[in-house]
Amino acid sequence: MYTSLYRSFRPETFEGILGQEHIVKILKNQLKNGTTVHSYLFCGTRGTGKTSTARILAKGMNCLAEREERPCGICANCISIREGVFIDVIEIDAASNNGVDNIRELRESVKYPPAAGRCKVYIIDEVHMLSTGAFNALLKTLEEPPENIMFILATTESQKLPATILSRCLRLDFKRVPEKTMRQGMRDICSKIDVKISDAALGLIASNADGSVRDALSLLEQCISSGEKSVTREHVIEILGTAGEEVFIEMTSMIANHQVTDALLLLDRIISDGKDVRQFIKDWIVHFRSLMMTKFIRNPEDILNMSIENIERIRKQSEKIDLSFINECIIKLSQTLSEAKWSTQPRILLELCIVKLATDQTVAYPSEAKEKATDSVISQSAKKMASYNNSKRTDNEDKNEILQQAETEIIGEELQQTVTNIKQHNTATDIKKDVSIDYDKLWYTIFEEGESRKGSFNLLRLGAVLKRIDDNSFTVEASNETILYYVKENAPELEALMEKHVGKKLRLECCMADDGKQQEKKKTAEELADEIENKFGIQIDVL
Ligand SMILES: [Zn+2]
Repeated sequence: MYTSLYRSFRPETFEGILGQEHIVKILKNQLKNGTTVHSYLFCGTRGTGKTSTARILAKGMNCLAEREERPCGICANCISIREGVFIDVIEIDAASNNGVDNIRELRESVKYPPAAGRCKVYIIDEVHMLSTGAFNALLKTLEEPPENIMFILATTESQKLPATILSRCLRLDFKRVPEKTMRQGMRDICSKIDVKISDAALGLIASNADGSVRDALSLLEQCISSGEKSVTREHVIEILGTAGEEVFIEMTSMIANHQVTDALLLLDRIISDGKDVRQFIKDWIVHFRSLMMTKFIRNPEDILNMSIENIERIRKQSEKIDLSFINECIIKLSQTLSEAKWSTQPRILLELCIVKLATDQTVAYPSEAKEKATDSVISQSAKKMASYNNSKRTDNEDKNEILQQAETEIIGEELQQTVTNIKQHNTATDIKKDVSIDYDKLWYTIFEEGESRKGSFNLLRLGAVLKRIDDNSFTVEASNETILYYVKENAPELEALMEKHVGKKLRLECCMADDGKQQEKKKTAEELADEIENKFGIQIDVL
C-alpha cells in the first residue's frame, strides 16, 4: 500500500519534530523529571506537528527505556504506538465524533486503568469541533482526571474553545515552521528517497507551504509522483499553477510600474494554469489588505496569519507602495469582484481593471516616485484645504460645494476624515463622533516623516495619541508625564508636520490620558479592522 510522504516521514521521536524547539524542550524536561500534567492543549496551524508531537508524548509516557531516553522509538511500546495498535493510546477525531455520546463513552472508558502501559493517553484532534454538550461532558473529566490518564487536545482554532477548557490545560502553541527549517527537512527526505532537488525548487515549495510541513510535503510529493528523480523550480511552478504570495507580489509590482502588457501576460498564465478568476481577485484583495496592515501594525504576524518569510516579502513591497495606491486597488478590485459575480465574462472585467489600475495616472504611485506622490496627494489636499479656508468668507452653498469636491478628489484617507470633521463642525454636529481611528492614521503618517528626523519621536508615537482636530488647534493626549514632556518639547516640530499634512497652521494642545481612555485605545487593532471592513467591504478577522 502506498503511504504519503507526510505519513512515512512522520517523526518518531522529538528530534524529528521541525521548528518547535520551544515545545520539545518543555515536554522532554517534563518527561525526564516526571512532571507531565493531566491535560495539554496543542494549538497551531495545520501541518505544524501537533498530532506527531502528541503521539511522541504518548510514547514518552509508555516507553520502556530509561527515563532519560524516553521515548526511544524502538521498544515494543513505542513500536505499537507508532503502528496505532497500542491499546492505551486512543485517538479521537472530534470532527467526526463531536457528540455528547462519544464523550460519554470516553468518560466511561476513562474509569479503567491502563491495560498495557503506564498511562492511558487520549489524543483528541480538532477539539474545537466538539458540541457544547460534549464540551461540558469533557470538562467534568478534565476537572477530576483519574490517575494515569492524560488528555492531549489539539486544535487549529483555540479561540473557539470555552474558557473553562482552556483554563484546565497546559497550553502549547505550535509555530509555523520557518522556511529554512522546512527546506532542510525536505532536503533530508529527498536524499533518503534518492531525489535531486534544486535550491530554487525547495525555496518555492517552502514559501508556498506557508509554515505547514504537511503542505510542503504534499507539494513535494506531487512533484515526484510521476517518478521524477530530479525536481526543478519550473517543475514546481507547473504543479503549483503559479499560486502563492509571489504571484501577487509580482502582479502588484507590475501594475504599480505601469507594465500593462506584462501584467496581462501574467494573468493569462495564471488563468491558463487553471486559477479561478473570482478566486484570484479575492486573493489579490487579501494581498492588498496585507500590504495595508503592514503599514499600520508593527507586528502583523498574528493578524496576517502567515509565515514570517511571507510577511517579510509583503513588508518589503508595502514600504515601496503608497497607501493611496493600495486604497485605490482595493476599491477597484472589490468593484470588479462584485461585477464579476454576475458576469459570464469575469476575465474580461479583471483585464479591464488591470488596465485601469496600471494606466491611471491620477493615482499616487509607488514611492520610487515618493516625491511625486507627496506632491499629488498631500499638496493637492492642502490646496483643497486652503481653498476651503478662503471660502469661509463666501456663502454656505459654495462652501459645501467645495468641500464635496475636495472629498471626492482627496485620496489620502486621513485627510478625507479631516474634511469630514470640519464639515461636521460647521454644521454644528458633534465633532467628538468616534473617529479616533482616522486620527491614528494621521498621527502615524506624521511620524513616518518625523521619525527620521529625531529619535525621541518614536517615543511619542508609542506613548501619545492624536485626540482631536479643531479649526485652530489639535489635541495630543499623552499616556504619562514623560511623554507629556516630550510632546511639549517637540511642539514646534509637531505643529510644522501637522501644517504640512492638513494645509493649515494649527496650535498644539496637550493633555494627559486618564486610565479609562487608555483602555479604550487598546482596542485599536480591532477597530482598525472594523473600519477597513466598513470602508472596503472585505472581511477581516482579528485573531
Ligand atoms: Zn520506547
